[in-house]
Amino acid sequence: MAQLKSQIALKKLLKDYFIGMKSPIAWCTSAGPAEILRALGFEVYFPENHGALLGASRTAEKYIPRAHQEGYDGEICSYLTADIGAWLMKETPLTKIYGLESIPTPDLIVFNTNQCREVAEWFNFFGREYDCPVVGIFPPRYLEEITQAEIDNVVSQFKGLIEVGEKIIGKPLDPEKLSETVRLSFEGSQLWKEVLETASHSPSPLTFFDGCILMAPIVVLRGTQICLDFYKEALVELKELVAQNEGAIPKEKVRIYWEGMPVWGRLRSLSEFFAENQTSVVASTYCNSWVFDHFDPDNPMESMAYAYTQIFINRGENTKLEMMKDIMEKFEVDGVVFHDSKTCFNNANSRFGLPKRVEESTGIDTVSFDGDLVDLRFFSEGQTRTKLETFIEQLKYDK
Ligand code: SF4
Repeated sequence: MAQLKSQIALKKLLKDYFIGMKSPIAWCTSAGPAEILRALGFEVYFPENHGALLGASRTAEKYIPRAHQEGYDGEICSYLTADIGAWLMKETPLTKIYGLESIPTPDLIVFNTNQCREVAEWFNFFGREYDCPVVGIFPPRYLEEITQAEIDNVVSQFKGLIEVGEKIIGKPLDPEKLSETVRLSFEGSQLWKEVLETASHSPSPLTFFDGCILMAPIVVLRGTQICLDFYKEALVELKELVAQNEGAIPKEKVRIYWEGMPVWGRLRSLSEFFAENQTSVVASTYCNSWVFDHFDPDNPMESMAYAYTQIFINRGENTKLEMMKDIMEKFEVDGVVFHDSKTCFNNANSRFGLPKRVEESTGIDTVSFDGDLVDLRFFSEGQTRTKLETFIEQLKYDK
């Protein structure tokens, strides 16, 4: 499989991001209000990105047991245990990749429990370690509809965050800067959506596994011009591939929707497995989680409150089903693979009957496999391959 040119460009972009990071630095969850932090004047670091890096570099297995010794359970978020373990062992893959001595030191730590409660425990650990202020945003959870009262609730929490941030930075938030940052986030997110939507073409020019790499800027550089420029370039490449009818999987026979977290330590082998089976993983909830249609520079606070509360992981089961159906239809998938990640029940959606409801309402088959985002003790390569192979064969037969 050929590597996308954009993935090569991404390496430099990420190197500049990590090496260029200087104080004041705020840590933030991946769907936290990064725009507020940037507009205040912070550079923003995302521990989840570091967790994924620990998984992808397969160093997590070394660090997770150290967090267990500290009392962090073996069945809680393996981003958390890998990251805390690495910290306690005073190591980071950023040293080998970028020559950095350590992860960036925070001046402010911010989390949003729109995704899970685990981020509160994780980020508070580091608040204690660094003796650094920690601000949590606690939106209402698991919503079907989102009401004005819920938006008001989140906006008032954002105001509390701004007060803390202004004290650290030493000057008030510039409303125009916030509006501009929200505009950049909106445009970046729309470009990211276009990137993902190139996969609606058959054969698809990119797969979920490419998406897991290409998504880095919309997570860590959301709200910057750098993010926009990157996706504009990536789109040129992907549109060319579409025009030439060149697929990531040249003889694409089956199109799959991936539901749940990536298995970071097995991205490459899973990508190769699907390619060998002429199967393109063209859509996912995960990559779509950073498509924000509702950012509005003219109404930054409310639109951010809405955008960050309406994410898939924070929704009720009925809304999740509708969101999946929309994506499945757009990308014309033949089947759905649910990854039941054992240390992230928050992002494992096969446990409350959703696969059956997907099948009943769409007529499209699903399969679930056990695994994990980072902790490979929970992933059996052999069993997973056998299960997925059988599923794909059935889908081919049904076509
Ligand atoms: S959503 Fe899951 S993987 Fe992400 S921080 Fe929370 S528990 Fe960890």
